[in-house]
Amino acid sequence: MVTTKADAVPRVGGRTVEEIRSDFPALARIIERDGKSNVVAYLDNAATSQKPRSVLDAMAAYYERSNANVHRALYTMGEESTALYEESRRAVQRFVNAARPTEIIYTSGTTAGINLVAHSWGRAFLSEGDEILLTEMEHHSNLVPWQLLAKEKGCRLRFIPFGESGELELDRLETLWSDRIKLVSIVHGSNVLGTVNDVKRIVDFAHERGAVALVDGAQSVPHEPVDVQALDCDFLAFSGHKMLGPTGIGILYGKERLLESMPPFLAGGEMIEAVWLDHATWNSLPYKFEAGTPPIAETVGLGAAVDYLGKLGMAAIRDYERELSAYALPRLKAVPGLKVYGEAKRRGGVFSFNVDGVHPHDLAQYLDGEGICVRSGHHCAHPIMRKLDVAATARASLYFYNLPAEIDRLVGALERAKEFFG
Ligand code: PMP
Repeated sequence: MVTTKADAVPRVGGRTVEEIRSDFPALARIIERDGKSNVVAYLDNAATSQKPRSVLDAMAAYYERSNANVHRALYTMGEESTALYEESRRAVQRFVNAARPTEIIYTSGTTAGINLVAHSWGRAFLSEGDEILLTEMEHHSNLVPWQLLAKEKGCRLRFIPFGESGELELDRLETLWSDRIKLVSIVHGSNVLGTVNDVKRIVDFAHERGAVALVDGAQSVPHEPVDVQALDCDFLAFSGHKMLGPTGIGILYGKERLLESMPPFLAGGEMIEAVWLDHATWNSLPYKFEAGTPPIAETVGLGAAVDYLGKLGMAAIRDYERELSAYALPRLKAVPGLKVYGEAKRRGGVFSFNVDGVHPHDLAQYLDGEGICVRSGHHCAHPIMRKLDVAATARASLYFYNLPAEIDRLVGALERAKEFFG
C-alpha cells in the first residue's frame, strides 16, 4: 500500500521510495546555480527517465567483458554478446506479454518504430484515397510520418478531437468513421495533457471495421502494465530511455502475421538471407527489420531496465503514480494564477501548466535555480498548443521515484516565482 500522507513513508511494491531512490545515482545530484545549492528534484520524466545503477552496471559489464558484434561471431565473446542481446528481447517480450520474441523489433525509439510502420506497412498496403485516423493530441512522432505518407500516397488524415478536459471525444468515433480508414494510430498517454486514452476501445472499434491499429506507448509502457495480447493492438511503439533504459533503443511490437507481410524498411547487414548482385532475400523475423549493427549495449541496458521495473511491479508503479498525481494536481491548481492543461478522469503524472504573466522558459529557469527540473516549450505537439491557444507551457512529469516532498518543493517554488516575476 502506498501513501502520500505527510507522516507516512511512501512505498512502491514493498520498497520505500527513499530506498528506491538510492538505486538512482543522478537523483542525489546537487544543482549549483545562482549561488544556491540544492539536491535535484527531477520532474522531467516524460522527456526521459533517470537510470538505476543496475542498468549502468549491466552496460558497463557488457563493454568490459563481452563486447563483440552479435550473430556473426563463433567465438566466446561473440556468443555472449548474442546471448545477452536475445535475452533482453525475451525480457521485453515478457514485459509486454507478446506471444513470441520474433514480434519484438529493436528500433532506436518510438519515433523510429512509427516511421518503420509508415514506410514499410504504409507504403505496401495504403493506396490513393485511403485514410488514416489519428487524434488531435498526437506527439509529432505520430503525426508527421503519416503526413509524409499521406502526401506520397494521396491519402487523407482524419482526427479524433479532444474536449475541454483533455479527453478524446470517443462518442464521435461512429460519425467520424469512413470505410476508407485503413489505419488507426493513437497515443496511449498524452505527453502534454496527461490523458490516458481508452486505447482498447479504439483498437476494438478499428478491428470491427477491418482497420489496423497502432498504439504510441511512449508515455504508457513506462508507467502502467501494458499487455499487447489483452490490448490486441497490431503495433505498439515505445522508447527505452523513458523507462529507465538508455537512449538509442526502443521497441516496435508487431503481430507476427503483419510483420511477415511487410517488406523491409532499412536494408543492409543482418536483415538479409542471401544476396546476389541484382537481388536479395530477407532474413526471418525479427532480423528482417534490424539492418546493420544494432545498439547492443543499449539492448542490454533495456533488459536490465525491464527487470528492474518487473521486480517493482508495473501495477504498483501505476498505483503509486496515481496517488502522487492526485496529491500534485490540487496543490498545483491552488498556486495563484496557475492554469493546468488537461484534467481527464484517467490521467497520468504529466502536468502542463502556465503561470499568469510568466513565460514558461523563465519559469523553468527560475525553478532550476531551486534545483527543480521541469520542461518548457511546445513538447513536440504544436497542434495541441494551437488548440489550447498557447505558444508553450511548462511541464512537470512524475515517475515512481518522485516524492510528495518534491511536489511540495515545486509548489513552493512556483508560488515564489509568481511573486518574483509579479
Ligand atoms: N510519443 C510520445 C507520446 C512521446 O511523449 C514521445 C517522446 N516525448 C515520443 C512519441 C517520441 O519518443 P522518442 O523521442 O523516444 O522517439
